[in-house]
Amino acid sequence: MAVDRHPLWKSLGIDLERNDEFLGMLGVVYPEVYLSQPNRPKGMAYFDEVTFDIHGAPIQEMLDEKERTGAQIVGTFCIYVPDEIILALGGIPVGLCGGSAYSFPDADTMMPRNICPLIRSYVGFKVGKLSPFFECCDFLVGETTCDAKKKTWEILDDLQPTYVMELPQRKDEIDRGLWREEIARFIEKMEEASGKKITVDALKDGIRRVNAKRRALKRLYEARKAVPAPISGKDALLVSQLAFYDQIDRFTEKVNALSDELEARVRDGVGVVAKDAPRLFISGTPQVIPNWKIHHVVESSGGIVVGEETCTGIRYFNDLVDESPDTVDGLIDALASRSLSINCSCFTPNDDRIQQVIEWVKASRADGVIYYVLQFCHAYNVEYVKMERALREAGIPVLKIESDYGDEDVGQIKTRIEAFMEQIA
Ligand code: SF4
Ligand code: SF4
Repeated sequence: MAVDRHPLWKSLGIDLERNDEFLGMLGVVYPEVYLSQPNRPKGMAYFDEVTFDIHGAPIQEMLDEKERTGAQIVGTFCIYVPDEIILALGGIPVGLCGGSAYSFPDADTMMPRNICPLIRSYVGFKVGKLSPFFECCDFLVGETTCDAKKKTWEILDDLQPTYVMELPQRKDEIDRGLWREEIARFIEKMEEASGKKITVDALKDGIRRVNAKRRALKRLYEARKAVPAPISGKDALLVSQLAFYDQIDRFTEKVNALSDELEARVRDGVGVVAKDAPRLFISGTPQVIPNWKIHHVVESSGGIVVGEETCTGIRYFNDLVDESPDTVDGLIDALASRSLSINCSCFTPNDDRIQQVIEWVKASRADGVIYYVLQFCHAYNVEYVKMERALREAGIPVLKIESDYGDEDVGQIKTRIEAFMEQIA
């Protein structure tokens, strides 16, 4: 029998009525979008279970660990913030970006409406006391990436302590130096918050655990390159999304178990769609749970998504941190190098991203790319100009979709995606 989470949510000051309403909506949508898919891998059962109790078990687990060990629970919003350091100092990192329009009215009471929906969503979850993830955090960590986020930290800080890391916007030596210093400064912040001192062994252990998670996700994405694809894009996206919430070591184990199953499917030629189903690759802004919109449209129109170059995709796991240095300084260098290999459009120039997309599209045997931009995200929107040119030169068809979290444009998006799939088939 399901555990009643209301006492837990009440203790965190959550708006119980609206939380019930939000989870009720998710409870209707999820079976339609997910459970109705044919021939799902058995290993997805675990991820269904986590999603069904998304505001329950992960929260209870973090609070139990906090009580047992004094762990600091640290909310983050960007993959440049090093989880390895939080883990090394006994903390628990948790991703707080928002993927639902449900909280927009709450954000709109204090922020402009014409901002990126990802930000509007998480601000709303905080303002409306709708997210137990926010409410169990000791503090938040923002970063100077895009303009909207930069200014949002000043507002969030009034509601919950928010520490900000300064991320450079270029990758020259001077920028690398700044980022190394910022990582060292973040270690001091975490030491102060946790009352612990960083050690080489603890930092190596944090790096090892996050690298293991990245390797597991990479295995999952490698399996998706097979024809026919052994898992739907929606299922793979869900796994990537849960990487930001679930207990890290168990998550890694479950992704590896799922990958074992997918690799066996690939050996046996088992897929979730026909071999000739149009294969699409998504590139662009992050898709935060429960934002499955584009994947659902593609896959309910007969296509399949075979990879995502997003922060809920390959940008999250593609590169590993070097585990070999034997000093804290050496490990900081390794962390800085790894994070500066992420190709976010907040950087200029960002041409490595284009090359990375072309390589993944080819390796995934994708027929075309959907370039996905969240409304009002200027960096990814403008970067499309160069991306489109390069993809066309490489002979890769591309369709740009700009959207937010509402359902109003689903019909129009479906028409455009179906026409695109017909054209590239
Ligand atoms: S898109 Fe850029 S700013 Fe946003 S989470 Fe990814 S790396 Fe961070
Ligand atoms: S999607 Fe774009 S605008 Fe939104 S938070 Fe990320 S970088 Fe900023």
